[in-house]
Formats: sequence, C-alpha cells, structure tokens
Amino acid sequence: MDYLPIFLRLTDEPALVVGGGSVAARKVSLLQQANARVTVVSPELEDSLAQLKTNNEINHIQGQYQDDMVRQYRLVIAATDDAKVNQAVYEQAKAFNIPVNVVDQPALCSFIMPSIVDRSPVVLAISTGGSSPVLARMIRSRLEALIPASYGRLAALAQKYRSAIKVKFENVEHRRKFWESALEGKVSELVLSGRDKEAERVLQAAINNSDETILDEKGEVYLVGAGPGDPDLLTFRALRLMQRADVVLYDRLVSDEIVAMVRRDAEKIYVGKEKSNHAVPQRDINKLLVRLAQEGKRVLRLKGGDPFIFGRGGEEIKDLFHEGISFQVVPGVTAAAGCAAYAGIPLTHREFSQSVSFVTGHLKDGTFNLNWSLLSQPNQTVVIYMGLTGLEIISQKLIEHGVSHDMPAALIQQGTTRNQRVITATLSTLHNKVKAEDVVAPTLVIIGEVVTLQDQLKWFDPDESSGIAIGNALG
Ligand code: SAH
Repeated sequence: MDYLPIFLRLTDEPALVVGGGSVAARKVSLLQQANARVTVVSPELEDSLAQLKTNNEINHIQGQYQDDMVRQYRLVIAATDDAKVNQAVYEQAKAFNIPVNVVDQPALCSFIMPSIVDRSPVVLAISTGGSSPVLARMIRSRLEALIPASYGRLAALAQKYRSAIKVKFENVEHRRKFWESALEGKVSELVLSGRDKEAERVLQAAINNSDETILDEKGEVYLVGAGPGDPDLLTFRALRLMQRADVVLYDRLVSDEIVAMVRRDAEKIYVGKEKSNHAVPQRDINKLLVRLAQEGKRVLRLKGGDPFIFGRGGEEIKDLFHEGISFQVVPGVTAAAGCAAYAGIPLTHREFSQSVSFVTGHLKDGTFNLNWSLLSQPNQTVVIYMGLTGLEIISQKLIEHGVSHDMPAALIQQGTTRNQRVITATLSTLHNKVKAEDVVAPTLVIIGEVVTLQDQLKWFDPDESSGIAIGNALG
C-alpha cells in the first residue's frame, strides 16, 4: 500500500487553496463540504469563487503566493498552472509537516484526493494511488449504483441509537448480533423504503423489551414493477428486493433475463397467464401471496411494467392490507414509456399532442366501453395496452367518432427487447398491416400525430433486426 487511507476531520480548521481557477474551485467546494475554513490565494478568482468571496464563505488573499504562507494551515492544496509556485507550495508545506496536494502532480503530493461516494455519514473513498483517476471514477460509479442513497440515513439512525443499544446489550457478542440483524433485516428495509419512523419504533421496542427477538423477521410482500423487458430498465430498488426475496411469483411479461437476476436460491413460482388461459387465477395469486408471507417469507411479486398500470396491483395489495401483512410497491417503467422511448415516439409534443391516455383494449368480460368521444379529441396521444385482438374495432370506433382515417398509428411488438419491432401505418390500415405480419405478444398500440416523429427522428431502423432504437439517435 503506497498510501494509507484516513479520514481527516477538518471542521473549522483552516485550509489553504493556492489558485483561483475552476480546478481550485472544485477543491474549495470539497473542503467546504468537510466544513473547513477555506482561504484562497490568487491574483484573480473565477466566477463561482468570486461569488463565495462576496458571500463571505471563503477568505481571499488577493495576489501571488508568498513564501511561508502555508504556515498557519492544517492542509494545503495547490491548483495553479505555474510549476514554480506549485513546487514552492509543496516544499514549504513539507518543511512545516503540513499535508499538501498539488493537483495532478503525484510527485508533489504528501496526500492524494480519492474519488468519493458520499452517503454521509457513510463515505467511501476510492484511490488508484494516482495511477488512473479514470479507473477510480469508473469504480466509483459502480459503487454509486450499488449503495442505496438512503444508507446515509441508516447510518445516522444507527448512530442515534448506538449508546442506548450498548446499555441494553452489555455483552459485545449480543450487541453485534443485534446490529447485524437490524442492519441486514427489518430496520434497514424500513429505512431504505422510506419508513424511518417505523424503523425507530422497532429500535425503541428492542430497547424497551427484554429480548432481542423483537427483530424476528415477519413475512412481507414486495410488489415490484420489472419494466417492459430490458433488464437495464429495472430500478435500483427493484434489484435490491430481487436480491432479498425468499420466494418470487412472476408472470409471462417478466423476461427470463430478469427472472435470472433474482436471488439464486429463491423459490421461483410461475403464475403467468396466457390469453384466456389463466394459469393461476388472480384470487389464488392473492391468497398465495398472503399464505407465503404468513409463513414468514419475503415474497417478491414481480410484474411486467408498472404494478399499478393495468397490473392488478391494487387487487393484490387489498388482501395483504386486510390481513395486516406489510408490503411495499415499487414502480416500474410502464410499457408505454419504454416502448415509446425505444421506438423513438415521444408520447407528448408541444406541437402535436398535449395529453396522453393509457387505455386497455381488453375488458374483464370481453367488451369495450371506452370513452370514444374523449379519445377522439384532437392533439392527444392514445396508447392501447392489450389492444391486438380488439385493434380493428378500436380503430373503427375512433374513426366513427371523428378521428381521421389517416391518423398515424404504430404497433410495437416486444418493446425494449432484442425482438422489438415497430409497425407504422394509419388508423385505417394498421389493422391489416399487422395481420399480414407475424406479430408476437406483447404488443402496444400508439395512435397520434407523434407517431410521424419516429420517421423524422430516425431513432429506429426497421431494417435492423435488433431494432433497439438508441444508436441512431446519437449518430
Ligand atoms: N403493468 C404493465 C402492463 C400489463 S398489461 C405495464 O405497466 O406495462 C399487459 C400489456 O402491456 C400487454 O398486452 C401489452 O399491451 C403491454 N406490454 C407490456 N410489455 C410490453 C412490451 N415489452 N412491449 C409491448 N407491449 C407491452
């Protein structure tokens, strides 16, 4: 190890930054985040530093760096483009045993600045010993994705209860066990899902009660939106709960790639429905969720898209609510948003469409009673879920209610996946065009002027077999 990682307390300590440009400004900002009292020495200041000076947030010594200036500081950073000044700052700081860093010159540094993941009070510092700042930044962005934003709040909570728990569990071993089960289990999950008050109640109960069994895991249900297919569209929270679950119930819309990302040893139960061939009836799914949670399991109900958009999420949580089972709902990218983005069709546009409706083309009893006159108003986009079977009737109804028969319309098959296909036509021709193709479920229909933008934007190349509409948008 060429450098010893340490965390320096700088609150109210004087720190010196030599230089007044943008690099210096970044270092000043970091030092301020650590509550240092910052002095900048430089003949001139760039705008943001000048602003800090006006606000009295930094002290400014206007002029060139002079010998011995480093003397009264706890820490010194040089960020000038004058090699002589940088060298002088380094030598004098060394002479006074003051930690010094000259930006981008490892040879003139007694300490180096790491890449930082800040979840204060949790802070991760990554260093490659100056060998590759780019690599450090890459590692940092991976860790950023891995560590939930709310870990800071979790640590703050642990800090708040630390001494009380110490009094409660005198035995070190018991104490360690307690914190392990709190931070790996219930307390952590409550904080990460934003239920900090409940987490505090659990800790408080543990302090008031005579045993640590208060943290015993009760079953709970996570109703999680898995997005339209591309695993990259999962949320961080979805991924975390997928890793936590003991058992997962998933259906046809959840891609194999996504199911493969669930904790390896979790039990996996397929409850999918083929059209008019209900594999597991909805009421049985609802009952199963309740039973598994009552057995004490962490149950993941993984659903395509968003659980509350044509996802029966509302029906599934009703029973959980009645049975007093704790649950959380995690939103997902709904098919309309995913398909539209990957097909290059903006759902709204200031010129063409000021509103968007999501409707279902499939009702429980097989009939439609959509508000046709509302859906036929101009300047809007209509997105139809489950609309393949009813496409012909839907198109007819809209035309009857005044929509032009040449209104642009698109059908997107298996949107956001490698098999995505986009078929564009008009309201009167889409149905036949789709019939002539070998279309595979799931499919989504988008009707409105915005469909023409797909052409203009050229986000999607119909000749490309993969059909994923990203590259062209940039090129
Ligand atoms: N909760 C889901 C919708 C479930 S209803 C969501 O928010 O997306 C099922 C319908 O969603 C399908 O019939 C189809 O119309 C649409 N759908 C879901 N995923 C899709 C995809 N990848 N491509 C096209 N349509 C999709």
